[in-house]
Amino acid sequence: MVNQFRYEIPTAIEFGNGVINDLAKHVKNLNGTKVLIVGDPGVVQAGVVDKLTKPLEDNGIPYVTFSEIEPDPAIQSVEKGLQLADEEGCDLVVGVGGGSSLDTAKAIGLMLTNSGHIRDYVGINMVPNQAAPVIAVPTTAGTGSELTIWSVLSDKEVKVKVSVGSIYNMPTLALCDPELTTSLPPHITAATGMDALTHALESYVNKATQPISEGLSVQAMKMISKNLRLAVVQGENKEARYQMLLASLIAAMAFNTTRLGLSHALALPLGAHFKIPHGVVNAILLPEVMQFNIIGNVKKFAEIATIFGENTIGLTTREAAEKAVTAIRQLKKDVGIAQTLSDYGVREEHLDMIAEEAMLSGNVAVNPVKPTLEDLKNICRAAMYPVAKEVVTN
Ligand code: NAD
Repeated sequence: MVNQFRYEIPTAIEFGNGVINDLAKHVKNLNGTKVLIVGDPGVVQAGVVDKLTKPLEDNGIPYVTFSEIEPDPAIQSVEKGLQLADEEGCDLVVGVGGGSSLDTAKAIGLMLTNSGHIRDYVGINMVPNQAAPVIAVPTTAGTGSELTIWSVLSDKEVKVKVSVGSIYNMPTLALCDPELTTSLPPHITAATGMDALTHALESYVNKATQPISEGLSVQAMKMISKNLRLAVVQGENKEARYQMLLASLIAAMAFNTTRLGLSHALALPLGAHFKIPHGVVNAILLPEVMQFNIIGNVKKFAEIATIFGENTIGLTTREAAEKAVTAIRQLKKDVGIAQTLSDYGVREEHLDMIAEEAMLSGNVAVNPVKPTLEDLKNICRAAMYPVAKEVVTN
């Protein structure tokens, strides 16, 4: 745990079923005169975008929709969206969707008030000016992008995922309506829920954790432990959806100031080169990363086992810690994530490149165990062929 730390969340949060109906009121409060709505084809098709345009139309607020965002959004989408916002005179951005849409919306908001190119701001604390007002409406319960400092963008030409991290990149308002997540299909519910879990867990055991983030991580893990399976198998279960959206938001409040760990360090190159959905790659890696990290924080892994319902009575702390890995393997299996890295084309000859690129991530420095390149390759190897190690029940 760190000694000195700063904790700051400038984003206001409106949370609850039906809060989306107040969108027009929030736009007016933020002095928005024309709105750029940023989403993707999936949320348009699911009818989610209509739930935003209706309150705007009812209140005579003009808007234009940019709904071309693709998974692992491209830097070029930020350029296109910015051009549209400039042409149409938009002064407020509403992002609606998963992390891909929200990250793009945030980056467009940032570029409305900062000169140059979004590439100029890759890294942490590189941005000079506060973004234009951004309202983030999450429709997956996973990334927590609605209140993080990060926009994760893809430079598709060179196959690299880069991150812009700045307090000025945090949305003005996170408008979180759990009912918008009920249209999520089970496989996306599962993957995004595992992403939220990875956020809470990696933040909890890492070296930058502090009492505020620890409390948030524990709360998020408890909620995910109780609700992720239900949200996957009963998509219409309002209570499970409510709890999962809240859990992903709370997990984001935890990791926003602590960063994460090796799952996320490896997820960037694996996502960029092999197009593995972000939540899926985290779910594949997490048990293997936990196994590697146990000796860096045995006590906390033992606590995680208890949070996930493992019986640790009579076990040594180390034995209890191992049970945390068993619990997460079981959860991953229960929510239907059976893929391995090799299913996505990852082969032995790719591991040098993946490990070298992962080592550049800021998430490595805070990981509880300092890895070598060979360690990172071994984690990937374990995630390529993990079936023999599964000890979970059917
Ligand atoms: P996503 O945004 O790519 O969405 C996945 C799919 O779900 C899309 O096809 C989308 O149309 C669909 N979808 C979303 N909401 C839906 C709904 N309610 N009904 C039906 N379909 C719906 O996936 P994601 O996992 O939310 O975001 C991943 C991206 O976020 C990655 O680029 C990742 O790197 C980034 N990320 C950002 C942060 C951050 O702090 N900014 C944190 C973690 C991940």
